[in-house]
Amino acid sequence: MSFKQFSSDQDVIDFVQTHTAVFNNSPDLTVTEIGDGNINFVYRVDDGAQSLIVKQALPYIRVIGEAWPLSQDRIRIEAKALKQSEESCPGSVPEVYHYDAASCAIIMADIGQYQSLRQALIERQSLPGVAEELGAYVAKSLFYSSDFYLSSKAKKSIVQDFINPDLCQISEEVYFWDPFCDHERNNVNTPLAARASEWWQDAELKQAVARLKMKFQNQAQVLLHGDLHTGSVFVDPSAEHKVKVIDPEFAFVGPAGFDLGVLIANYLLNLAGQSRAAGEPEERHAYQQVLLSDVNSLWQSLTESFRRLAAEHTQDPCLQSSDIVDAWLSELLTDSLGFAGVEMTRRTLGVAHVADVEQIEDEAARAEAQTMCLDMADLLIKHAGQFSGMPVITAAVGELSFCR
Ligand code: ADP
Ligand code: MG
Repeated sequence: MSFKQFSSDQDVIDFVQTHTAVFNNSPDLTVTEIGDGNINFVYRVDDGAQSLIVKQALPYIRVIGEAWPLSQDRIRIEAKALKQSEESCPGSVPEVYHYDAASCAIIMADIGQYQSLRQALIERQSLPGVAEELGAYVAKSLFYSSDFYLSSKAKKSIVQDFINPDLCQISEEVYFWDPFCDHERNNVNTPLAARASEWWQDAELKQAVARLKMKFQNQAQVLLHGDLHTGSVFVDPSAEHKVKVIDPEFAFVGPAGFDLGVLIANYLLNLAGQSRAAGEPEERHAYQQVLLSDVNSLWQSLTESFRRLAAEHTQDPCLQSSDIVDAWLSELLTDSLGFAGVEMTRRTLGVAHVADVEQIEDEAARAEAQTMCLDMADLLIKHAGQFSGMPVITAAVGELSFCR
């Protein structure tokens, strides 16, 4: 069957009525396009009592158009990754009601009562239990797709299922290429121009980034979400499942530290943003302490969960050793810090910035926060292997970014 874009509300309604029984043929359905993402079309279908979400992938990037073609296989990958997450960490993603290969669309649960973690951090909300739950989610995602758990054949099978060349190419370019040279796609705040030039000429930095890029391209360690920034994480601290993760269209089997690094980086981007955000300095400083303590809690929860899973489920006689688990977690920490530095760089010099920093209206004040981001990135990329544990790291990045 050939692909057809939904071109009217009725198309979306017909699709939902054909493939789900949620609305029981209710005649009063409304369709709203809610996608604030750049790549796909996202609709909410609502009958006043219940709602669900339809996400459709076109053969190109939504905000750019046919000039930037993109494989629609990404929506198969997203549906499969959502199902995989539901298995490894039940309740951590919106339930998938239907995936339709012909329409390149997913029908899934509406998590409208959740808020993006990015927005919650920008608003300096208190989020009890969220960092711990995120740590457990990352631990389960890592463990259940790693060699600690999977048989040889099962591992090869997920590598095969998640071959994602188009989206990996985008990541390789926007994380590891553009922000390390004077690329036309970059977006450099004017007062940051001299610092950017230094960045592009820093041989030590680029060597460290080259090693991370090689890992990204060659190390098929675990199934990654591939885009685990705080806009892909939705939270409701009062819910049974406090965290829901969406949008895994960049999923592929890659280096274990990548998702964790991107997530930590987005906490740290908020940390830097708080230093020049609107509001009382005491309140912003107190929230910076909360952010650092959240990063510590996330890591602690991740390592505790991972160690428990390995002790309970690992069968391989060599991988069962707790020394091996410790070594694996130590490499995870080092790699994730490097990837965090790369994410912070691309969100500061590259094409796609984050609201946590961009919301600072004054150009000079924003440049000061961005300088903190680059200072942290420099430390993390060049010295990732030299820290003895997460509390040492959070203390060091705190020093570089506190309100002053
Ligand atoms: P894209 O792939 O284009 O980036 P996303 O999957 O990130 O699209 O979705 C864009 C936006 O649509 C999200 O930021 C969120 O606000 C909303 N959204 C996506 N999925 C859901 C869902 N299951 N429930 C509620 N809102 C959703
Ligand atoms: Mg997306």
